[in-house]
Amino acid sequence: MAWYWWILIVFWMGGFGWAIDNARTALRTRHERKMERLEAAKQERLAVEAAHKAPEPVCGCTHHLAKHDKAGKCHERVEVPVAWDESKKPLRFESGQCNCQQYVGPQPLSQVYADELTDLA
Ligand SMILES: [Zn+2]
Ligand SMILES: [Zn+2]
Repeated sequence: MAWYWWILIVFWMGGFGWAIDNARTALRTRHERKMERLEAAKQERLAVEAAHKAPEPVCGCTHHLAKHDKAGKCHERVEVPVAWDESKKPLRFESGQCNCQQYVGPQPLSQVYADELTDLA
């Protein structure tokens, strides 16, 4: 075999490897793009679902408004820390009552009840 054949083979092998690498990268980016698109679609769907859901009547203390009495006092049981370690991390908890008084200012707009629009005709 003539010496230049070896050069040709080496070039061919190099080019072949490069082509495979390229194809692999292309496939991977295409896959990643697809995943990104799927992820974006999922986020969009979640946002739409959240927008359609009625706002949960939850108090600022994270407890449901149903847990509050007419005076606004929250009756939910909570864990109250009774002992702390030197880094102020609670060590022990005791069952206590949430001392929330409920927000008594103007009602946020999301709590205004709106009837579903019905077509009477
Ligand atoms: Zn509350
Ligand atoms: Zn509460």
